[in-house]
Amino acid sequence: MIKDSFNRVHDYLRISLTDNCNLRCFYCMPEEDYDFTPASRLMQPIEIETLAKIFVEQGVKKIRLTGGEPLVRKDAAQIISSLGKLPVELAITTNGTRIHEMLPVLKAANIRTINISLDTLQPDKFLLVTRRDLFHQVRSNIELLLHHNFKVKINAVVMKGFNDDEINDFIAWTTHIPVQVRFIEFMPFSGNRWTSNKVFSLNEVLEVVGKQYSFLPVLGEANDTAKHFTVPGHAGSFAVISTMSAPFCSTCNRMRLTADGKLKNCLFSDGETDLLTALRNGDDVLPLIHASIQSKAKALGGQFSGTFEKLEAATIHNRSMITIGG
Ligand code: SAM
Ligand code: SF4
Repeated sequence: MIKDSFNRVHDYLRISLTDNCNLRCFYCMPEEDYDFTPASRLMQPIEIETLAKIFVEQGVKKIRLTGGEPLVRKDAAQIISSLGKLPVELAITTNGTRIHEMLPVLKAANIRTINISLDTLQPDKFLLVTRRDLFHQVRSNIELLLHHNFKVKINAVVMKGFNDDEINDFIAWTTHIPVQVRFIEFMPFSGNRWTSNKVFSLNEVLEVVGKQYSFLPVLGEANDTAKHFTVPGHAGSFAVISTMSAPFCSTCNRMRLTADGKLKNCLFSDGETDLLTALRNGDDVLPLIHASIQSKAKALGGQFSGTFEKLEAATIHNRSMITIGG
């Protein structure tokens, strides 16, 4: 079992398959001419499988594949198939642009829930956020997944003055469509031009929804990062991931493996532990895993407290989101 010094059991591993992506979301990627990590420095399929097995032997029950965009990796199918054989719940977070090419692989690996990022329901705004004209591809892939009975969660990063005016459009969308829309508070990462006044908080989301809909809180699961709500009569539901205004660190069970094989014990940790080099040198990685999690800070990587309003992004030391794996 992997435990930290605050007695939190860590049984959820998020593996980034790549820091490459076919979209260019401005809040995630530092700049347009960003240099992706060369393939030789990325974990190879057998290395991912070997590390994943070690984590599973230590009690990991859930693995989420992320990135960058996990489905742009040429060997994504091979990796998904091999992890699909492990005794864990396998999940994926994707921008949804390649789902139509990967559907049989996702099904065969027994992936049942898929998180898709979609920050806007407007094609023009999608182009502004992602700098790529793939809105209709993503929308049709969401329909494809629902048609094939996948549970679909939509991740929407809400930024003040950019897409907060669409919150109730997303809620209206859930009237007949059985998706869970998860509004994510905008988080600071290296190079993403975060400022506290762009955060649209949990309370602000609820205030906006409350102007048009009545809604009820729903009890989440033990290690949930999201606060869940239902609108009576709607086929779908909504949730808010309130990392900035109401962090959920006290029940954290998450570890992150970057695409270049570094273990991060928190999304906001400035330190990381190089598992891939140790593995390639034939060293035992297990003590490194336990030491990394033992050194985990109580909250938010020890870098800031729950009062984000006075936070200066420049004081936080971290990778960009695309190189961590969200
Ligand atoms: N490419 C995939 C995708 O877009 O879903 C997976 C990787 S992406 C880094 C994972 C999630 O992180 C996405 O839902 C994205 O919206 C979210 N994300 C990226 N940058 C963020 C930020 N600055 N604040 C909040 N969420 C962010
Ligand atoms: Fe790519 Fe996902 Fe980051 Fe957008 S949020 S740039 S789709 S990795």
